[in-house]
Order: sequence, then C-alpha cells, then structure tokens
Amino acid sequence: MAKIENYNFAGKKAIVRVDFNVPLDENGHITDDTRIRGALPTLKKILADGGSLILMSHMGKPKGKVNPKFSLSQIREDVAKALGTDVKFVPDCMKASEAAAELKPGEVLLLENLRFYPEEEGKPVGIDKADPAYEDAKKDMKERQKNFAKQLASYADVYVNDAFGTAHRKHASTAVIADNFAPENKMLGFLMEKEVQAVDNILKDIKRPFTAIMGGSKVSTKIGIIENLMDKVDNLILCGGMTYTFAKAQGGKIGISICEDDKLDLALDIIKQAKEKGVNLILGTDCVAGDSFSNDAKTIICPSNDIPDGWEGLDAGPKTREAFEKAIIPSKTILWNGPAGVFEFDNFTAGSRAIAEAIVKATENGAFSLVGGGDSVACVNKFGLADSVSYVSTGGGALLEAIEGKVLPGVAAVQ
Ligand code: AMP
Repeated sequence: MAKIENYNFAGKKAIVRVDFNVPLDENGHITDDTRIRGALPTLKKILADGGSLILMSHMGKPKGKVNPKFSLSQIREDVAKALGTDVKFVPDCMKASEAAAELKPGEVLLLENLRFYPEEEGKPVGIDKADPAYEDAKKDMKERQKNFAKQLASYADVYVNDAFGTAHRKHASTAVIADNFAPENKMLGFLMEKEVQAVDNILKDIKRPFTAIMGGSKVSTKIGIIENLMDKVDNLILCGGMTYTFAKAQGGKIGISICEDDKLDLALDIIKQAKEKGVNLILGTDCVAGDSFSNDAKTIICPSNDIPDGWEGLDAGPKTREAFEKAIIPSKTILWNGPAGVFEFDNFTAGSRAIAEAIVKATENGAFSLVGGGDSVACVNKFGLADSVSYVSTGGGALLEAIEGKVLPGVAAVQ
C-alpha cells in the first residue's frame, strides 16, 4: 500500500472515495459540513501536488434508484467553496469517462450518488432471501458489482479511500474498486489514516486505567462491542436507555422507561461476565425520570430500579453522575460511544454533560480520549467540547466494528 504523505499526485487523476453523506434540510441545504471538512486535507494535498480529483460518494439510502432528494448536485457549490475551486459534476457516475479524460491538473469532478446504482452496495434487488433464485441473483450482482467498480476505476490512475464512515462496508467504491489498482497506486486518505491510528491507540496502546462508556438507547446494537471491550477495559460504564434493561433484569421497577425485554438474560450475562473478568461495571443507580417523553416533562430523581408507574428514566441522576466522574477522571484511555440520557432535550443533558466534562478533565491530565458514534459526537459539539478531547471520530458503525476488532473491508482493500 502506498502512503498518501509520500505520494506525488502531479499529473495523476485520483479517484477519491469520500464520505459526503452530509445531513440536508428540507431545502437541500447542508446542516452540518463536518464530513466535507474532514476530507479536505486529502483533497487539498492532491490538488496542491498538481493532481486532479474525481470525487465519489453516496448520500442517504436511495436503494439503487435515481432519487433527486439524494442528488450530490445539491452539495456541489459547498464542495467548491470548501476547496476554493470550481467543481464539475456528472449526473451519472457510470458515464463519466469523457469528463474524467478532460480533467486537467488542479481540476475537480464530482460524480453523482453512487447508490443510484444497486451495484454500489452489491445487494440483489427485488428478490427475497428465501427465494430459491436468491443465490443466483447474488452471484449475478457480484459480477455486476465488479464491472461497476471497474468502470469507476477506469477514470483514474490512483485510488484513495478517505471514507471512514463506510469503511465497514464491502461496497464497489469502498473496497471492490481497489482490485483494479496496483499496490503502489492505492492508499488511505489522511482522515482514514487518523481514524485507524485512533482505533490503534485504543486497542493496541492501552494506558491504564481504560474506561469505556457505552450509552444510547439499546443494548442490542452495542452488544458486540461491549463483549469485545470486556477483555480490555478496567471500567465499563453502561448508561442511557440500556440502564433500564439492566435494572429490570435484576428485578427492578422501571415504570415506562425504554427497555428491551428480550435482552434481560443478555444483561444478566454481561453483569456475570464483568464479575468473572474483574471489570468494574458501572450502571446507573439513580436517574432523572420524567412523566412523559418530552423536554417539558415534570421530573423527579429516583433510584433507577424503583421508578414510579407512569414515569420513565430519561437521564442519569446525581449519584450516578458522581460515579461516572470518579471512574473517568483518573483514566488514561477513554472511549465514549452513546449518550447517558435523552440529550436532545435540554433538560436531560446533565448525564452526558458530566461524562463529557470528566473526559475533558482526564484528557487535560494526559489521557487519550476517543469520542465516536453520531450521538456522542453531537453531544460534545452541543457542549462545545469537541476540541477538548483527543479525537472525535467521524465513523459510527465503522468505528464500533473496528473497536470490536473486525478488519474493515475499506482498509483491508488497499493494504
Ligand atoms: P443509539 O442510537 O443507540 O446510540 O442511541 C442514541 C439515542 O439514545 C439518543 O437519541 C438518545 O436520546 C437516546 N437515549 C439515551 N438515553 C435514553 C433514555 N433514557 N430513554 C430513551 N432514549 C434514550
């Protein structure tokens, strides 16, 4: 694999898989351009070397069909502004040969949403998995995906993958395309390199104590990472909505709090595993409960396992926040994924804020802190603390899979 920092792009056409899957409002205006800004170091290096850029990305879930709501033409101007140069646009990513051939050094071409073609994701469409013909359809789609990737590759001399957000997917543009380039002409972009390094810091270079904080609404979506972390961490804080699945599993009364009734045994098993492995498992002991799921709900502080009927736990209580701080502040490695409460409601941000502020303190004391996953990133942004932690990851699913120890197809493909 080539290294972007050592590569000279002069006179080369580089096709770069970026993650421009940015959120848009109802008028098609970008509401958060973090992902575009994240790709700039790579894109600017290529242009500064005298290379030309072919940018490809997905946006939303158009499910293999053309849908103007997800057209990347909507962000063309924003990309141009961010790069400080004009951006050409091709409305069909399979018909860009001419436009690519005409690109001169320093010029930029943006391709239309890759997911307007089912070949990008490579899943057979319009056929049920139970259908006997499904296996044949899958094989056929794999072939089509290879050809789709080959066409994209034909536009360029070099392939750069800088889309960490989709690195856990084996899609045409994130992995399959790499087979069409020699090892010296494919590489990770700067953003990907940084993300991979941040995960390495967490997994390979653990300074202790290591505290992982997992929050969010459900146990089910985090179970893989929780089990993987169990072998690595000293402290494991499980917070947010999953608190109440644990409380109920242990015989607690949780009112109308969010709960996964089919995960009660799993919760008990996690408690058992933590004991066996000597992990300090920290679960909420008290909570801020509301009488409805709204910012204006009436609130009480009560034990997380004794919530009155008709009330629901929406945030961590004061004793719980103190327990979080006690574990986090002396830590030397910290991973945070998922809020400790319904942080979108201003009246239920205290738990998440306590975590964020404790992480900042630990970071000031020399800890390496990684915050990742959409909602925890939104939290640190909301509290204005994004610059005070060691690293804020752009990846949600990709980050979790990397930390679970899985090899990301988007990284493996260029290595
Ligand atoms: P996830 O997508 O699983 O990471 O969950 C993130 C979501 O969990 C956020 O939208 C939070 O509002 C939500 N959440 C956190 N704590 C609670 C809670 N106690 N009850 C309901 N939702 C919660």
